Amino acid sequence: MLTYWEQQSFTHYHHIVAGAGIVGLSAAIELKAKFPGQRVLVLERGVLPTGASTRNAGFACMGSATELLDDLNNVSEAEAVRLFAWRKKGLELLRVRLGDDKIGYKENGSYELISAREAYAMEKLDRLNEVLLPLVGKPAYKLANNKIAAFGFDATYTQSLIENTCEGELHSGMMMRALTDLAIEKGIEIKTGADIARFEEHPYRVEVFINDPFRKETYGFTCNTFSICTNAFTKQLLPDVHVEPGRGQVLITHPVKGLKFKGIYHFDMGYYYFRELDGRVLLGGGRNLDFKTENTTSFGFNDHIQADLEQKLKEIILPRTPFTIDRRWTGIMAFGANKFPVVQAFSSRVYGAFRMGGMGVALGSEAARMMVEMVNG
Ligand SMILES: Cc1cc2nc3c(=O)[nH]c(=O)nc-3n(C[C@H](O)[C@H](O)[C@H](O)COP(=O)(O)OP(=O)(O)OC[C@H]3O[C@@H](n4cnc5c(N)ncnc54)[C@H](O)[C@@H]3O)c2cc1C
Repeated sequence: MLTYWEQQSFTHYHHIVAGAGIVGLSAAIELKAKFPGQRVLVLERGVLPTGASTRNAGFACMGSATELLDDLNNVSEAEAVRLFAWRKKGLELLRVRLGDDKIGYKENGSYELISAREAYAMEKLDRLNEVLLPLVGKPAYKLANNKIAAFGFDATYTQSLIENTCEGELHSGMMMRALTDLAIEKGIEIKTGADIARFEEHPYRVEVFINDPFRKETYGFTCNTFSICTNAFTKQLLPDVHVEPGRGQVLITHPVKGLKFKGIYHFDMGYYYFRELDGRVLLGGGRNLDFKTENTTSFGFNDHIQADLEQKLKEIILPRTPFTIDRRWTGIMAFGANKFPVVQAFSSRVYGAFRMGGMGVALGSEAARMMVEMVNG
């Protein structure tokens, strides 16, 4: 049981945010800006954030050409443009909030490798550029076949190369470090190792219960508003929402001697992505090889997909170039019936921003801003 002192001084807040990923920390910063004199607490179950924000690839991207063509096939043109604009706005907000230096933002080029299977995209680039022109002010996609040989990619697979002219890359570790530092600087409290078991909404407050593994007990924090930013893990707190987890497998090589490319790259309709990072190659993806197994919130490895990633490195990305793997990791994304995040007021006290798909670095800051816009003091 909490002591009298603890109960009096440590458990009452104006606003509590669940989750210290990019969305949760951005939401806390937005809350503090909107309600400067009020106490804001972030509760994070991991010692470090343990979802996707420190486990992703650091693409500051709005989507490859084939992904956007796929969006245009599945939703109206207006919706596809709205999603693109959301990602663009989110990235702008992130860069302004933290500064490019602090997040390691660079524009070293963004490309998509086009194999015979995606050749259809070539005919549709002009139309895609036309649709996006009002947002980007220049053609977003152009052919860059002249760079295939210079980058050293396998020419049998890579029949064309499409360059995206409005994307960049960042350092996800620096980004999350800078967000955490900013939150602390603004006077936001962050408690890690605080696994939220459940919450109860009462007429004048919300009670948020956490499992404390050290004390081996569950106790409650109270707040006026509770914002749920737990992405793939949201069903634990809101069982009725539609969120499906999707695990992403990643590996990174040791520095590769004579590496011929920089920048970020997609292939196979965005299911695979790789980039240069400190002279190494970071490669992830392959969820489409085993959707069923990867529909999980467990952080384990999928040997089949990891082996496939290595093979793609060897055959497509670094043919005839020796490399060794430094480390591997996984992260958990959240998907739904469409690619739009859920940003919702569940009541006048409970709010949520989650289901960021594979583009939460881009979408996250704007999703948090939109959610906090709904929050009443
Ligand atoms: C392998 C991989 C590569 C990716 N690459 C990119 C990319 O290049 N570009 C891009 O834009 N996006 C990318 N993404 C997606 C992006 O990382 C995510 O969409 C984004 O990080 C989601 O942020 P979030 O804050 O919503 O969720 P998360 O970062 O998952 O944060 C949620 C937090 O909530 C905490 N939490 C969960 N349940 C509880 C609870 N009950 N109590 C307390 N805390 C809890 C978790 O521990 C976690 O820290 C990638 C994702 C993965 C996995």
